[in-house]
Amino acid sequence: MQDFLSCEVDLDALSVAGALNLHKHLNTESPLVDVEHLLCHTLSCSRSFFRTWPDQLLTTEQAQAFLSLLKRRETGVPVAHLTGRQGFWTLELEVNASTLIPRPDTECLVEYILSLDLPENAQVLDLGTGTGAIALALASERPAWQVVAADLSDQAVSLAKRNAERNNLLGLEFYCGSWFSALPQPRHFHLIVSNPPYIDPSDKHLDEGDVRFEPLSALVAQNAGLADLESIAEKAGRYLFDSGWVVLEHGYDQGAAVREILQRNGFYSVQSYKDYGSNERFTVGQASGGHDREDLIEGGA
Ligand code: GLN
Repeated sequence: MQDFLSCEVDLDALSVAGALNLHKHLNTESPLVDVEHLLCHTLSCSRSFFRTWPDQLLTTEQAQAFLSLLKRRETGVPVAHLTGRQGFWTLELEVNASTLIPRPDTECLVEYILSLDLPENAQVLDLGTGTGAIALALASERPAWQVVAADLSDQAVSLAKRNAERNNLLGLEFYCGSWFSALPQPRHFHLIVSNPPYIDPSDKHLDEGDVRFEPLSALVAQNAGLADLESIAEKAGRYLFDSGWVVLEHGYDQGAAVREILQRNGFYSVQSYKDYGSNERFTVGQASGGHDREDLIEGGA
């Protein structure tokens, strides 16, 4: 690759050579897309610019900057950590090592939630918001909703707030704390969504790919990955209006377990839905009615 620096090099040639090089060093599904993202980041250009002007020549400094990113990518550092950005829904989000990198499959939860018949000014809670991905995507589509986002990590909360600002999404509330105890006072929601940690601590996938660079606290949960899903499901009913929805992301093989958890906690209309890869990826349910909503939050989170 260094040979490229001794001659004039265009985007197209550099992306092909970079992708071949990356393929040799790293088991990535999409070397060419990775390289395109790194080149666009180096040149501060969009991917459409890149596609339109593939014969654009790079300066030696630009080629050098790209090569140093490529070297780090070869060691496995996620593209999103190298560029500091990740697209989610229609938004561009800042990402860093304090949270999960938003996954395309999580957009399936957003799509499902937008298909529900919720009130015009619905109150919505995103637990474990990380970059703010789900909360911000919902707020961008439903500006009249009151969206509340919470995370245990204060770095994640700061990141999510920055992402709200950079996408001009105002009016969300952000809180730091563990699950429902992050809320400054008890209140009810029409919908609670969460993409909590759900990977079994002994899962071998934790040693592969991008997850090696993400915080374990955002990935791993005890009890075969179900502990946090369970603790959210146990309390969610108390924070939902009658017939309010809970929408939980989970592992590809956890659908049956999460359905059982929700049913055991009194939810009805319990159903799992698939992600883009046809794996069961999230399960939903509605809170049973009949409670006195005035005092049910006593004892809180
Ligand atoms: N879906 C992610 C993965 O399998 C994990 C996200 C999570 O634990 N919430 O890598």
